[in-house]
Amino acid sequence: MSTTLAHAHHYYDVIISGAGPAGTTCALALKDSGLKVALLDKAEFPRDKVCGDAIPGRAVKTLFKINPLYEAAFNSFEPKLATRKTSLYYKGRNISFNWVGAAYTSARIDFDNFLFLLARDNSGADIYTNTEIKTVTKDKAGFLLTAKDGRTFSCSMLIGADGAHSVIAKQLAGRTIDRKNHVGSVRAYYDNINGLDPNTTEVYFNKKLLPSYLWVFPLPGNRANVGFGMLSDEIAKRKIDLKRLFYEFIQQSPELQTRLGNATQISALEGFGLPLGATEVKISGNRFILTGDAASLIDPISGDGIGNAMLSGKLAAEQTIRCFTNNDFSEQHIHTYNRALMASIGKELKTHYYARRVLAGAPILLDTVFLACRTPLLKSLIQKGL
Ligand SMILES: Cc1cc2nc3c(=O)[nH]c(=O)nc-3n(C[C@H](O)[C@H](O)[C@H](O)COP(=O)(O)OP(=O)(O)OC[C@H]3O[C@@H](n4cnc5c(N)ncnc54)[C@H](O)[C@@H]3O)c2cc1C
Repeated sequence: MSTTLAHAHHYYDVIISGAGPAGTTCALALKDSGLKVALLDKAEFPRDKVCGDAIPGRAVKTLFKINPLYEAAFNSFEPKLATRKTSLYYKGRNISFNWVGAAYTSARIDFDNFLFLLARDNSGADIYTNTEIKTVTKDKAGFLLTAKDGRTFSCSMLIGADGAHSVIAKQLAGRTIDRKNHVGSVRAYYDNINGLDPNTTEVYFNKKLLPSYLWVFPLPGNRANVGFGMLSDEIAKRKIDLKRLFYEFIQQSPELQTRLGNATQISALEGFGLPLGATEVKISGNRFILTGDAASLIDPISGDGIGNAMLSGKLAAEQTIRCFTNNDFSEQHIHTYNRALMASIGKELKTHYYARRVLAGAPILLDTVFLACRTPLLKSLIQKGL
């Protein structure tokens, strides 16, 4: 359902603001809850999202757990590649890791539209696209949301799934950008890549820029998503022009010249931020839960955020159902969501946060990893730990 009625008011038990991976997963997990749910997004779908387009195994596993039928839907979703291997390039050397679990690449314009249609057709939620939430205020029974065009919505429970610039996180949790835990990134699409294995994601390091890296991720049709990201604090301190650095990185690397020298850049180089899941931030409160990038859940080493976004969307739905069942919407009760989320990914986020810091302070460690990988046993241990 899409409405154009200015100033119409809508009441819901649950409003999910944002229909990206976190919001759509949350809506799907609320199916059959008996609750009146709305899923809002400022965009019309299909819409693009600046990303590396690597879909982690955790993303699809979360979806399949909600309903095994979604596995068949994902299998028949075509614009994707299964990736089984990652190759690292550093100082003219190359090591590869083979992954046991399945991961994928898919352009976000396709993958997010797949999730959006799945939620539209299966979740039972009312869908409002072209609905940008501007303000959130508390009212007697929950929250009052006002859209850019003046429409208002109220709800007993609010799920913030509105991404890295979340209005909900800013207004209800006082979120600001923490540059020390935030990465600035750029990415563009290239066609006619030379010799890129469709099942391998590639990561390139430059010793002056560690632990940052440039990625070349394959997509169907001999296309690749090529991008580079760096800690926002470093970008500001060193007054870095990220777009210029991106092209310099490619020009200065012989391996990247082989891959991209004759390729055609088919999209603009676009930038966007990644809020890293590094330190504790407020992710819930009285009658609200933040999910995905709105909750700063991106892995500090890999930059993966889709899997954590979808997992948090599912856990937010489970907590929401508990709130209505127990008729308890207090911050204390909702904190069960924080605990469940951290029990799943807290240790991983912390370890990767420290690994990133250690690597930034001691780049020699990357040489050590390359050396260690000459020994099959050590390589297999690193592979398991990564
Ligand atoms: C350059 C870059 C590369 C990345 N590469 C990868 C990668 O390869 N793999 C990976 O797993 N992760 C990657 N990430 C991280 C990943 O993109 C995010 O973690 C993921 O998109 C989070 O999902 P989400 O649903 O929380 O937010 P989003 O995907 O951002 O979705 C938020 C939704 O909310 C809507 N919205 C925003 N504001 C409002 C509003 N005010 N009112 C209504 N709707 C609103 C938006 O239109 C959007 O549809 C990358 C990020 C960047 C920037």
